[in-house]
Amino acid sequence: MGQPIESVTIVGGGTAGWLAAALLQSIAAGRPGRTKPLQITVIESPNIPTIGVGEATVPGMVRTLRTIGLSEREFMKRCNASFKLGVVFDNWNEDPDGNPISYINPFNRAPSLHGVDLCHFYQRFGANGLSFVQCYAPTHGLLDACKGPRVTSEKEFESFMAFAYHLDAARFAELLTEKCVAAGVRHIRQNVKGVEQDENGYITALALEESGRHPVELVIDCTGFRGLIINQVLGEPFIDYSRYLANDRAMAVQIAHPDPERIEPCTRSTALGAGWCWRVPLFNRVGTGYVYSSAHRSDDAARDEFLAHLGPQAGDAEPRVIPMRIGRNRNAWVKNCVALGLAGGFIEPLESTAIHMIDMGVRWLVTYFPDSDYADPLRDRYNRLIDNLYDEVRDFICLHYRLGNRTDTQYWIDAREELDLPDRLAENIELWRHNMPAHYDLEFSSLFSVSTYNAVLLGKQVYRTGFARAELGGGLALNEAEWRQILAEFQKRNAAMTERAMNHHRLLAELRGDVEPAARPASAQATRKRPPGVAPYAGPQPTVAMPGFAPPRLDLPQVAPAAKAAKHDKTEDASLL
Ligand SMILES: Cc1cc2nc3c(=O)[nH]c(=O)nc-3n(C[C@H](O)[C@H](O)[C@H](O)COP(=O)(O)OP(=O)(O)OC[C@H]3O[C@@H](n4cnc5c(N)ncnc54)[C@H](O)[C@@H]3O)c2cc1C
Repeated sequence: MGQPIESVTIVGGGTAGWLAAALLQSIAAGRPGRTKPLQITVIESPNIPTIGVGEATVPGMVRTLRTIGLSEREFMKRCNASFKLGVVFDNWNEDPDGNPISYINPFNRAPSLHGVDLCHFYQRFGANGLSFVQCYAPTHGLLDACKGPRVTSEKEFESFMAFAYHLDAARFAELLTEKCVAAGVRHIRQNVKGVEQDENGYITALALEESGRHPVELVIDCTGFRGLIINQVLGEPFIDYSRYLANDRAMAVQIAHPDPERIEPCTRSTALGAGWCWRVPLFNRVGTGYVYSSAHRSDDAARDEFLAHLGPQAGDAEPRVIPMRIGRNRNAWVKNCVALGLAGGFIEPLESTAIHMIDMGVRWLVTYFPDSDYADPLRDRYNRLIDNLYDEVRDFICLHYRLGNRTDTQYWIDAREELDLPDRLAENIELWRHNMPAHYDLEFSSLFSVSTYNAVLLGKQVYRTGFARAELGGGLALNEAEWRQILAEFQKRNAAMTERAMNHHRLLAELRGDVEPAARPASAQATRKRPPGVAPYAGPQPTVAMPGFAPPRLDLPQVAPAAKAAKHDKTEDASLL
C-alpha cells in the first residue's frame, strides 16, 4: 500500500482550475484519518488568458454552490448571475407546414400516471394544441412573462421548480479564487515551463518560470484546450469527435439588454445557416455567440451572418473567434495526472454541460482518490465513468442534429445525413421510430433523463413529420378521461405558479441586495413558500450519492390535492435534467 497523498497541484486558473480547487477544499480529505489537511496549490499563468466563455449551467450548479459553501446571494451579486429554467431551441426544425418550430428543453421532468410517462398520453390523445412541456410545467408561462422560479426572494436555493444559473465566467473565477485563497489554497502566478518525470513517466516536479523546481504529487491539468501536461507531456491521445459533430469554431460578443427589466430566464439557441447562436442573459448584459462549422462557413462569412442575426443590438461589436477542440482524451487520468475542463475534453456547448462535467470529475476523483501507489482499479473506474459522461453528452447533442429536418443549407443536410452516429444512439433512434424513449434505452444516464429525450423528440415534433409510424407504444392501455383530468389540473397549477412568481429582474435585484424586498400582497404572503399544491424544488438529485452531497427531500412539484384523485405519480428527479 502506498503512502497518503499530501498535496494536489492544479495547473490552470480558469473555471476548471478554481472550481476544482474549491471542490477539493470542501470535500477531499485524502485518506481517512489523516491529520494534516490536503495541501492544494493552483498555478496560473500571468499572461495566458482564460477562455472567457462558459456562462450557462445545468441544475447541478445548485449543488456545486452548496458544496463549496457559496451563498446564493453572494454568487448572484458577484457574478451578475440570473436564473435559467431550460434551453429554448428556435428554428432547429420545421413543422409539417414548413413553419419554423420553437421548443423548450425544460429542467423539470415530466411526471407519470400509473407508472406511464405522460408523453404516451400526449402522443395518443393530444393536448388541445399545447406543447408537451406546456402540459406539465409552467416554464412557457414564466418565460413569456420574464418571471423567475421564486415567489419571494427569501429562501436561497429553493424554488417550486428545477432551475440552473447563468453567470459571468470571469467574475466566477475571481470569486472562487478569493474564497479558495482565504481557505488556504496556495496561489502561484507563474508559467509552467517544463515538467520533470520519473523513470515510469510519473510527474515529479514542474519547472516554474521564476521560482524553478516545484515538486508535485497528484497533478490536475486545467490548462484548457492546449492540454499542457496530459497531451503535450504524457502524450495521451485525443479522441476527435468531428466525425459526429461538425462545429469546430465559435465567436462571442457581449451586448446590452434590449429591455433590462425583462430578463428571460432561459438560454436561447437559435439555428443559423451553419450552426447555432447562443443567447445567455445575465443580470447586467447578454452573452451571445455563434457556434459553427468551418467546413461550411469561413470566419468572415460567419461573422457577417452572426452580426446580421443580432441586428442593431450588435452595435459596433467585434466578435472574438474561438477555435474549439471537440472530443475527449482517451483517458482522463494518466499516471499521476488528471485532466479537467477543456484540457480533458469538450463537446460543443449546446447543453451547457462543461462546468457540470468539471464538478463530476472532481467528485469522482474524491470517490476514487489514490494513495502514492496509484492503484490501477481506481484509475480505471474513474476513466470509465468520465468516458461514459462524455459519451452521454455527445450522444444527446448528436440527437439534436440527427432529428433536425431543415433542408435550406448544406450544413443542416450534412449534419443529418453525412455525419456518423455513435452506435448506441443509432440503435436507439431506430427503436424510437417504433416506441417513444424509455428509461431502459439509456444505458448510462447520469445527466439526461429519458424525460429530456422525450422533450426533444416531442419538441421537434418528429412524430408529426414522418420520422415514425403514427401509433406508438401500442401495448399500453391508456385512459383518456384521466389524461384530460390531469391535463386540466396541471393547467390550473401552472397558471397559479406563473401568476405568483416574481419578475425575474426584480427577484435578482432583491437577491443582490440592490433593492429592499417589496411588501408582498397578502395572498403571496400566505403562500409565500410555494403556490398551492406545489412542494419546493430541493435541488437535483444524482442517481447515486455523491461526495459533498446530502440528499434533499424528494419533494418535487406535485399537483394540487384535488388532482390526486387522478393518481398521478410523484416522480423523483433522479438525474439532473
Ligand atoms: C464557445 C464556448 C462556449 C462555452 N459555453 C459553455 C457554457 O455555456 N456552459 C459551460 O458549462 N461551459 C461552456 N463552455 C466551456 C467552458 O468555457 C469551460 O469548460 C470552462 O471555462 C473551463 O475552462 P478551463 O478552465 O478548462 O480553460 P481556460 O479557461 O482556457 O483556462 C486555462 C488556464 O490554464 C492556464 N495555463 C495555460 N498554460 C499554462 C502554463 N503553461 N502555465 C500556467 N498556466 C497555464 C491559463 O492561464 C488559464 O488560467 C464553453 C466553451 C466554449 C469554447
